[in-house]
Amino acid sequence: MDHLPIFLRMQDAQAVVVGGGAVAARKAELLLRCGAYVRLIAPQLHKPALELLAGARGRVKHLAAAFEPHQLDGAVLAVGATDQSHVNRAVAAAARARAIPVNVVDDAELSTFIFPAIVDRSPVVLAVGSQGTAPVLARRLRAQLEALLPARLGALARFAGARRSAVRQALPASRRRAFWERIFAGRVSAQVLAGDEPAAQENFARELAASRAADRSAPGEVYLIGAGPGDPDLLTLRALQILQQADVILYDRLVSPAVLDRARREAQRVFVGKHAAGSHTAQARIHELMAGYAARGLKVARLKGGDPSIFGRCGEEIEFLRKRGIPVTVVPGVTAGVAAAAAARIPLTQRALAHSVTLAAGHSAGEDAHDWDALSRAQHTVVFYMAVGEMQSIVDRLLIAGAPPERSAAVVERASLPDERVLRGRLAEIAALARAAQVGSPALLIVGEVAAAAQASDASPARHALEGVA
Ligand code: SAH
Repeated sequence: MDHLPIFLRMQDAQAVVVGGGAVAARKAELLLRCGAYVRLIAPQLHKPALELLAGARGRVKHLAAAFEPHQLDGAVLAVGATDQSHVNRAVAAAARARAIPVNVVDDAELSTFIFPAIVDRSPVVLAVGSQGTAPVLARRLRAQLEALLPARLGALARFAGARRSAVRQALPASRRRAFWERIFAGRVSAQVLAGDEPAAQENFARELAASRAADRSAPGEVYLIGAGPGDPDLLTLRALQILQQADVILYDRLVSPAVLDRARREAQRVFVGKHAAGSHTAQARIHELMAGYAARGLKVARLKGGDPSIFGRCGEEIEFLRKRGIPVTVVPGVTAGVAAAAAARIPLTQRALAHSVTLAAGHSAGEDAHDWDALSRAQHTVVFYMAVGEMQSIVDRLLIAGAPPERSAAVVERASLPDERVLRGRLAEIAALARAAQVGSPALLIVGEVAAAAQASDASPARHALEGVA
């Protein structure tokens, strides 16, 4: 490392930018954002620089002249941003002579400092640099960090900053660090990041009071997280953030190994998948596990396929945890029906084709299970989950209730996974087609005029091996 990474305070400091084009304007703008005064030196300014000057309320002064070394007097920082290398060299030499840090755009040799790629979540700022060797790589890393960091990170830093002195008064120095670790890893932080500062404030006060009362057993907590349909890129950023902090992960059969791979490596993984038979005891065991881990003060991620609120029994789990006073947070996920529609390029609603959608449980296809007349109506889309075993009886019920046999339908197996399959056909034949193709779980049945919308326009035959069958 031959560059020292520092954050230089520029509030009300004088900077000099030599150049009148777009690059000079960009550097000047960055300096203005930090509260600097900017002396902009160029015989003439081009449009971006002129616009900057107009909007800068006196904080930018333009010197319509050729560069001369004495123009750096009084400056704490200089930037050479002209397209003439002899001018840039002169700026660099004059700055070095005055011991002022200087950056010459795109010239690491002439520069004594480099502008890093930045992620600005003020007051939190991340700076990424490659010491001049690979600026494009630094920018790529910046983009990756940008995607990974919560949008409200700045709010979290301000939240913490505003409470530092209260914590200093309440806790001895030896306990503060652990306290803040707990805050940043826990519910308070999640609530600030989700934009719920009132709740965060309330819990913060409670945690601080608990810590002060030397109650060292911080309560554990449970996150009910939607893991999406299988492709880890369809996890939400929040799910990813929590998975990277969790102590224990309880996951279902539908949670893909690729999703689990994204979790913190040290987290304990516990499979709690259940099959239809004996599901009651299985559910009771899940409740006990969640409560048990939380009681030990651990951060528990309960990962469910798709979205927790859709055929995910999250209501029972929330109720159970609530009764025991265990904090619970729900993180939504991409539900399988929506992922399947995307895979098959089917719009679930579309003007003139469908005004509403029903998400229905297919495994309870008995006569009374649904209002079959309503599900059979025109201009309505139905997505049947857990449909594999019952597909024929679902189809029969719909036909009896008056759905036309030629209504469009599609079956999507393992939506979003590498071996995803899409099968299309008319309602009357879709169950037979699925049987012939040996469609297995997990799969969904989509019925409605909209299912015809994407017919035959598929561009990825390898992933959709069965497209031709229908
Ligand atoms: N909570 C989940 C649904 C759980 S019910 C969600 O929101 O997606 C389980 C059913 O979901 C399966 O029987 C199947 O019908 C459907 N399913 C889940 N993942 C799927 C996938 N990747 N492709 C197709 N169907 C899926």
